Amino acid sequence: MNKLYKSLIFDKQVSLSVLETTELVNAAIKTHNLSGAAAVTLGNMLTAAAYMAGCLKSDRGAVSLTVKAEGDAGTVSVSGDKDLHIRGYIDVEKEGRLKGGYLTVIKDDGFSRPFVGATELISDDVSRNLMHYFDTSEQIPTAVSIGVKLAPDGKCEAAGGVVMQLLPDATEENTQAAENAMQPFGNAAEVIKNFGADGVIREYFPDVEKGGLYLYFPEYKCNCSREKLRAVAASLGKAELIKIAEEEGSVKIHCHYCNTDYVFTRDDVEKMF
Ligand SMILES: [Zn+2]
Repeated sequence: MNKLYKSLIFDKQVSLSVLETTELVNAAIKTHNLSGAAAVTLGNMLTAAAYMAGCLKSDRGAVSLTVKAEGDAGTVSVSGDKDLHIRGYIDVEKEGRLKGGYLTVIKDDGFSRPFVGATELISDDVSRNLMHYFDTSEQIPTAVSIGVKLAPDGKCEAAGGVVMQLLPDATEENTQAAENAMQPFGNAAEVIKNFGADGVIREYFPDVEKGGLYLYFPEYKCNCSREKLRAVAASLGKAELIKIAEEEGSVKIHCHYCNTDYVFTRDDVEKMF
């Protein structure tokens, strides 16, 4: 089961998140038939989305992270909502690594205008790029160590990690304590493999329950529907849709996130308008 633990530690001046996302990554591998570096890259991005979805305040909140990389990796896009329904896709040519390009984050609290932040990719490592994003775009000192470990059969053996974020009033002493507490998580996937999220809390943060410990269950789930994709189709205009339906027999609208085709017949097109 996927897990996200959240708590405030070190005099409630540091927010701690511990993620176990092995099943989330396996769901993505299965949905998109991924292997190798593409599975690892998307798995790390999905874990990042699960973390950021866990930080949303509004019930209608949603967050998306998109990487447009130069060269091999193409596009990676992940998103999540307040219910921790997480989804994503990777569009890769070859290796599936993140080289050059930009990370764009859109946070929507469901009320006012969404927050949009963008940073340049500084590495092919998702953790480092996320830290850079928080540092430059949100100006919140954040330590991120997330990782994905694949088994020889291509399935995800372990995924997840630890994220710590300093609250604005964090003292120097507690900042140092947080830095020290991050040290064991250099290889996050290995730690999750050995301990699981439950074990990480038990072994490394035994005092945490005093400050309140919250547990959430992220899940790979696409929020698309025939209704939504009908609206996407309709935006192409009636004449164009009828042309496609006549030339190709039907109109197919593809959802990248769950790899599903929605098929609309000529009759369906007529009813749209
Ligand atoms: Zn979908």
